[in-house]
Amino acid sequence: MNIASVIVDVPAKQTDRTFDYLIPVKWQDIIKPGTRVIVPFGPRKIQGFVTDIKSQSDIEKLKEIVEPMDLVPVLNQELLELGHWLTENTLSFKLSAFQAMLPAALKAKYEKKIKLVAGIGIESLPEELQPFFKKGNSITWEDALLNGIVSALKKEVTNGHLEVVYEVIERVKKKKVKFVMPLLSHDEIKGVLAQLSSRAGKQKDLLIYFLENRSPIELTKLVSDHLMTKSAIKALVEKQVIVEIEKEVYRDPFMNREFSRTYPLSLTDTQKTAIQPILKDIKKKQHAVFLLYGVTGSGKTEIYLQSIQEVIEQGREAIVLVPEIALTPQMVNRFKGRFGELVAVLHSGLSAGEKYDEWRKIQAGEVSVVVGARSAIFAPFENLGIIIIDEEHETSYKQEEMPRYHARDVAIERAKNAKCPVVLGSATPSLESFARAQKGVYHLLTLPGRMNNQSLPPVEIIDMREELRGGNRSMFSRSLLEKLKVRIEKKEQTVLFLNKRGHSSFVMCRDCGYVMNCPNCDISLTYHRVSEQMKCHYCGHESYVPKNCPECSSEHIRYFGTGTQKVEDELGKVLPEAKVIRMDVDTTRRKGAHERLLNDFQEGKADILLGTQMIAKGLDFPNITLVGVLSADTMLHLPDFRSSEKTFQLLTQVSGRAGRHELPGEVVIQTYTPEHYSIELAGKQDYDLFYQREMMVRKIHRYPPFYFISLITVSHDQLMMVVSVTEKITKYVRSRLSNEAVILGPVASPIPRINNRYRYQCLIKYKREPDLTQTLKKVLDQYQKDVSGGLQVSVDVNPFILM
Ligand code: ADP
Ligand code: ZN
Ligand code: ZN
Repeated sequence: MNIASVIVDVPAKQTDRTFDYLIPVKWQDIIKPGTRVIVPFGPRKIQGFVTDIKSQSDIEKLKEIVEPMDLVPVLNQELLELGHWLTENTLSFKLSAFQAMLPAALKAKYEKKIKLVAGIGIESLPEELQPFFKKGNSITWEDALLNGIVSALKKEVTNGHLEVVYEVIERVKKKKVKFVMPLLSHDEIKGVLAQLSSRAGKQKDLLIYFLENRSPIELTKLVSDHLMTKSAIKALVEKQVIVEIEKEVYRDPFMNREFSRTYPLSLTDTQKTAIQPILKDIKKKQHAVFLLYGVTGSGKTEIYLQSIQEVIEQGREAIVLVPEIALTPQMVNRFKGRFGELVAVLHSGLSAGEKYDEWRKIQAGEVSVVVGARSAIFAPFENLGIIIIDEEHETSYKQEEMPRYHARDVAIERAKNAKCPVVLGSATPSLESFARAQKGVYHLLTLPGRMNNQSLPPVEIIDMREELRGGNRSMFSRSLLEKLKVRIEKKEQTVLFLNKRGHSSFVMCRDCGYVMNCPNCDISLTYHRVSEQMKCHYCGHESYVPKNCPECSSEHIRYFGTGTQKVEDELGKVLPEAKVIRMDVDTTRRKGAHERLLNDFQEGKADILLGTQMIAKGLDFPNITLVGVLSADTMLHLPDFRSSEKTFQLLTQVSGRAGRHELPGEVVIQTYTPEHYSIELAGKQDYDLFYQREMMVRKIHRYPPFYFISLITVSHDQLMMVVSVTEKITKYVRSRLSNEAVILGPVASPIPRINNRYRYQCLIKYKREPDLTQTLKKVLDQYQKDVSGGLQVSVDVNPFILM
């Protein structure tokens, strides 16, 4: 068993298979399936994942593995198998699947170096180059550039004296902290103390300290808290009285916070009815999927907590997925409050090092619960007892790059293997999940009311067209403005929500209708007020804001659409006394800003919290009594069959922010299409009726959950090429599938050009097509091989973005 099958770090079709390498004898105990290794690949040395160990290979002359990168495999057997499953189900490269399962810090980085060829002496090099190779036998490419010797070096490469190599560098730095501790015994220190000259006062202080304290202390603490000097410490280290040691520590982003301990609440009867089947399956080690359907505040989280409790008592582990934007400190505290140190947290706000440290705690078995965003579904637990997905309808559970997986599917696959339940929770379940629950594929659990029996807040829907007819041109309806004023007087708080996804500020000529588009992409440019520029969100193109219309020279060219900044300005005009906190990508870019702004709002430092999607979730402050939605329908007009569902979910979610405590709340929704069922029914908070209406639409148009869909997108910088390739693919797919499948294409994508690449697509709707995966693989095999021509073909199975 001395041959390893290795997936190498080259994400391409040709290398999407294992390569065999010999394991040197000295590493045969260490290199196991799941270990990262460095292997020679062509002229380079690159990283790879060992997926298998075997005793035979078809290849005669095998190269040797250079060295292992891990002492303990980073992927366990279950995750290795999950990687294969992921590859099959999302049609991605094996490498991408494995990388997706690991923290970013474990992704390889390479350093380009120029090295003396083995056996060549430094004297073979021209004199001016020799100094660079005196210290080591190589210099980095960057240093070569800095010193302006690249072309001289190249000559030597041609002469065979030097070679270009790539070295894998470990990105992860385990954080180390310096500690100091005594080396001598108590009595010996006393002896040293007696001999010190009277001038060495600082050293004396230090010795006295260590007479009383013998445990290691952080060097920085010794200096800051105990007022010792670094020179004194250094002196005593040199005399070998004390010693400096480095200890590995975890970067704990939540270390300095206090968590007030919480205890299980005694469950209400409805909660008991809901939790029982979950507990039963945990105990019986049986797999099932539960859909826990209940409005915000209905007590779902308490059910999660008590289910996890049972899992922990059994010595097993739990994964809790929460959408990235809902992963607030409040949310985390609920889990840390109940399970304390047993909880690890994984979210994108952490630095790569912090994430890696949290991941290591999971791998080392130091924690039993992980709370995290999408990728936490790959937490390397060995004994899963439950997987919980809160807000299961959230589209952020779908990864939009390779591997294009949905965390819900991965959860179910892992839970099947681990024989444990999956709990999907939502107030507005995705149509797919609710339909499965209706059919009995999932087990439906319902929590009908709010815990405190508080009724849902009344919702007023305002037709903005009427406002306009009544002469109100402002972005606030009269009713909303009135209500805002009352809140400010009463010192109550308001959340104003701007649904920005879908449209942003663009520039349009009022006279001729000219819209400023990106010259590279067929999409309008977005106006950025701060920099006074137009920007393309797809390719980064920037341009000035025209004073006159380029088409008709009219001066009436101005920007439309409402950004949060513009709303903030308007608020300043109509309600100058209001204190506003704005939360959007711009104000929350800095680390911790998100949390700080929320804290400020919670502490009552502002009357109004104004923001985008970001504020739709997780907010639970007692003083919020008004929620306003400024533009409810912007998302409805996207070319996306889920746009009604998304609109309904978002509006329901936002409305749930008001009046969750003693003070009663109110919701105002402004819209230009009040008659649309997703808006009307969100106003009534009637999920069941919405579900029925939307299911009818989906059935008629043959969309999920009645049909599955897969999307093939082709792009190239030549339109003819794109059209003809898409045409060929469509024909081939059609020839391989049954008549039941609907194949739409070739058609231009809703965004037909991005960054000067034309985009065409083929959409496949189907019920049962056993040959589909094979067919799609063939398509990818055929077209992903030759990427040199610039052709890109991608397949998204169950896409969430159709543009
Ligand atoms: P959800 O997750 O559905 O939004 P939560 O679990 O957060 O609902 O419950 C809403 C509120 O009700 C929380 O403040 C929670 O502490 C409280 N709560 C939940 N279950 C109980 C219970 N059995 N007894 C008393 N209070 C409860
Ligand atoms: Zn014009
Ligand atoms: Zn562009």
